[in-house]
Amino acid sequence: MNCIFCKIVAGEIPAKKVHEDEEFLAFHDIRPAAPVHLLVIPKRHVPSLADVQPGDEAMLGRLMALVPRLAHENGLEGGFKTAINTGRDGGQEVDHLHIHILGGRR
Ligand code: AMP
Ligand code: ZN
Repeated sequence: MNCIFCKIVAGEIPAKKVHEDEEFLAFHDIRPAAPVHLLVIPKRHVPSLADVQPGDEAMLGRLMALVPRLAHENGLEGGFKTAINTGRDGGQEVDHLHIHILGGRR
């Protein structure tokens, strides 16, 4: 599959990883829009939030619960912004579900 985030999961292209477990991977965005800009993805290829199935509810809960933990580990004590861009009109460029975490002093 020609998916850049699946290639990062497979180790075929490099990324600045900040977290990895059985289910999720988190890494620095290659074009940061804030002093700290992380992406968190499920390792399994889910194209977008619009493709989520009823069986994905627990995975989505674990993904959201991971966000504040990663924010804390990356020094975002002052708060952070999260975003999930979905579909063409939602500004999604990479068709593998990911949540942006943006923060840090400007
Ligand atoms: P989105 O518009 O929500 O699909 O965002 C995709 C994000 O992935 C953008 O912020 C890109 O800068 C980022 N991105 C694309 N390729 C890579 C890569 N190889 N490593 C890290 N981040 C990437
Ligand atoms: Zn993928």
